[in-house]
Amino acid sequence: MTLPQLCEQLVQMGQPKFRAKQIYEWLFKRRVQNFADMNNLPLALRNDLQERFFITSFVKLRHQVSQKDGTNKFLYELPDGQMIESVFMRYHHGNSLCISSQVGCKMGCKFCASTLQGLMRNLTPGEMLMQVMQTEREMNDKVNSIVLMGIGEPLDNFENVLQFLKILNSPEALNMSLRHVSLSTCGVVPRIYDLAKENLQLTLSISLHAPNDDIRNQMMPVNRRYPIAELLTACEDYIQQTGRRISFEYALSHGVNDTPQCAHELGKRLSRMLCHVNLIPINPVVERSFLTSERKRIEAFQSILEGYHIPVTVRRTLGTDIDAACGQLRSKAAKEGGQQSR
Ligand code: SAH
Repeated sequence: MTLPQLCEQLVQMGQPKFRAKQIYEWLFKRRVQNFADMNNLPLALRNDLQERFFITSFVKLRHQVSQKDGTNKFLYELPDGQMIESVFMRYHHGNSLCISSQVGCKMGCKFCASTLQGLMRNLTPGEMLMQVMQTEREMNDKVNSIVLMGIGEPLDNFENVLQFLKILNSPEALNMSLRHVSLSTCGVVPRIYDLAKENLQLTLSISLHAPNDDIRNQMMPVNRRYPIAELLTACEDYIQQTGRRISFEYALSHGVNDTPQCAHELGKRLSRMLCHVNLIPINPVVERSFLTSERKRIEAFQSILEGYHIPVTVRRTLGTDIDAACGQLRSKAAKEGGQQSR
């Protein structure tokens, strides 16, 4: 709940408004996990809260630490037994957490492990927040930035994601500037227009992965519904409405989308846009047939794009030894029965 929503609840329960602020403080500043510990609230109210509400908490099923780069991947069990992943990464500019927005995904991208078993359900705003709070507790460290790039399609869970961002941003809650948040989408066009209207300071990332409909249709079924031209028009609208640069994600797969022709086609399409391209060596998933591009092909791709005056970065791959790409750990654990390990 946002603070105003909690206020309203308490007023309905016949309580003074300031109790909402006290509860928020216990939750977000002191981080207690039980109403019973909120010892400046009357006992009767603590009991009443206990009966009517619950504080989201997860069971940590697995915690894997990369031997290569120190990336930490968590597999959490939700109150209803579903599983999600969060990945904690250290960069020189601070700690970044990749969080899930849904249990599973219905978008069907052919290279992605998150979608293998389809969509189970949306995550609540509390379940998105708790990934941040519980991971901070596990790591005994702060999360400085968040990427909505874990399991799920955030724009397919639009209302809950907005509510999560509101609470994340609220000074009384986690007080994180949305400048430190990236939201990644496979291209749910109507929701991109909706998001533009919210005019948030976050970075919108578009998982483009192909320069034309022929290739994108083979990789991403969502493209049949919202083809590239429509997607790019929505992106232009987004840039115009918000004044913010868009980031295009492009996962390179050998012989599929990494040829020089692809780079030229992409360069021509994006050359006049306020954007940035992030090239990602595709992370091979056992159930899928995509192979990663060699370093040389990635570099060639990059320099062609730069010839079109497009800022390009190549993503450093982290956590490849701990199944850290979208949905890999959850999918593996589901097969193995999700037993506890560390
Ligand atoms: N549903 C959202 C966010 C989750 S996926 C989206 O599609 O953007 C986060 C990013 O990881 C997306 O760019 C996605 O295309 C990419 N991704 C998924 N599986 C991958 C893999 N095996 N290798 C490289 N990138 C992958």
